[in-house]
Amino acid sequence: MSDKKNIVIIGAGISGLTTAYWLNKNDYKITVLESKKEAGGAMETIIEDGFLIDSGPNSGLETTPLIRQLVDEVGLANEMIYANESSNKRYIYRNCELHPLPTSASAFITTKLFSTKAKFRMMAEPFIGKSDDGYYQSMAQFVKRRLGQEFLDYAIDPFVSGVFAGDPYKLSVKSAFPKLYRLEEVYGGLVKGMIKGARERKKRAEQSKQSAKMFSFINGMQSFPKAIADKLKDKIQYESRVQSVERRVNDWIVKYEQNGDVKEIKTDFVLSTIPVHSASQIFSNLDFEFEKHSRAIYYPPVMVLFIGFNKKDILRKLDGFGFLIPSKEKKSFLGAIWSSTIFPNRCNNDNAAFTLFIGGARSPYLFDLEKEKLIGKVLQEFKQIMNISNEPLFIKDRMWNNAIPQYNIGYIEHENYFDKFEKDNPGILIGGNYRGGISVGDCVKNSEITLQRIKRAGDV
Ligand SMILES: Cc1cc2nc3c(=O)[nH]c(=O)nc-3n(C[C@H](O)[C@H](O)[C@H](O)COP(=O)(O)OP(=O)(O)OC[C@H]3O[C@@H](n4cnc5c(N)ncnc54)[C@H](O)[C@@H]3O)c2cc1C
Repeated sequence: MSDKKNIVIIGAGISGLTTAYWLNKNDYKITVLESKKEAGGAMETIIEDGFLIDSGPNSGLETTPLIRQLVDEVGLANEMIYANESSNKRYIYRNCELHPLPTSASAFITTKLFSTKAKFRMMAEPFIGKSDDGYYQSMAQFVKRRLGQEFLDYAIDPFVSGVFAGDPYKLSVKSAFPKLYRLEEVYGGLVKGMIKGARERKKRAEQSKQSAKMFSFINGMQSFPKAIADKLKDKIQYESRVQSVERRVNDWIVKYEQNGDVKEIKTDFVLSTIPVHSASQIFSNLDFEFEKHSRAIYYPPVMVLFIGFNKKDILRKLDGFGFLIPSKEKKSFLGAIWSSTIFPNRCNNDNAAFTLFIGGARSPYLFDLEKEKLIGKVLQEFKQIMNISNEPLFIKDRMWNNAIPQYNIGYIEHENYFDKFEKDNPGILIGGNYRGGISVGDCVKNSEITLQRIKRAGDV
């Protein structure tokens, strides 16, 4: 294309930055507007008192080769690190004990995580028929039908809180876990699907060596968006809060506030990558229905509690990724990541660092408690589970009032609405983690899709 179009990208989180990077590489004229002082959005790393704290994502899964490509191109290859082998071991808390999640047939037979009755129920999975409920079936209904109540309670409930900080009774299986739903839809069941899917993956692996390894960076997850931002340099304007987007003849006018002044940019395309409630403030003037959909998408509150202990005070072996707590166990937190076991450089070698998650869609009511009381309760429970004899050396909390969008039952209606909104307002693209997946890997994957969409629209 000779006359490359102008594009304003709202938000310098991983979604906005990766798309901006590809567009810039393809010679589009880009401007990124970010309300904060620095890049990263939810990818936030703090270094304090010798501890490295990732208060948003602690790691990503390398689900797309685009991640490695980006890392190489922005000069971060030397800083990229992969999770320690031992972190494949994940624990679930049940009856005052941490049980390793079984990863082999023999471990499944001997595990005390599930009762014998539950194990027999799970083995019946290949004989369970399909359901046609699609987008209107919760994760809980799906799992209970296919694998039984106990598997739901002691495997899926904690897993869902580990990924979405979500509630399995509310999340739509098809919108939130499309790959899982697909196993039933395409292959007729999970076991059948996993066997056939593994064969297909094996075939594909002949062409691609990519596998979903868990990654981070020696200086924390925020290194990634910051390195992309460094490449884009003055194409990003910080402390620039977008206020509105308006149609003027054939252009879009983006108005934003910067140092107390209201400025505007005329552009061909606008890509929004900000959370839906912020997007609603900008786009509701174009269509009042936007607000209705934005209000219906729930982002539960999550507190991230980072704790550092002296290793000699921890009597439990640190031999895994961490543990998750099923709702049935009625604890005050969702689980804990053993941060310094997974990646190096999280604290000095005498200490151990942990990241705990509190609240989420399962227990937002916990924040009615006074903060100090809640943290005290969590700390006491954590010390008991981990067999820790002394007080922490370091403790820091980070509250996310609106943490992660929940792809709840009926989410398809919102997805369809955003498609329609884009059709009615050509040149506006609605992106970010409430469309097409919440993980860092999904956000990166979606940036390539957005690039292709803009290319196609620009060619018309
Ligand atoms: C606590 C927590 C833990 C997580 N853990 C993991 C994990 O372990 N692994 C994983 O893969 N994913 C994890 N996630 C999810 C993942 O981090 C996010 O989905 C992803 O980073 C979102 O990126 P984004 O660019 O879409 O949005 P954001 O990161 O939210 O970026 C949006 C940006 O827009 C800016 N903005 C907002 N309004 C305006 C405005 N009006 N004008 C200009 N700028 C504006 C914001 O300041 C922000 O920088 C976690 C998320 C949280 C909150």
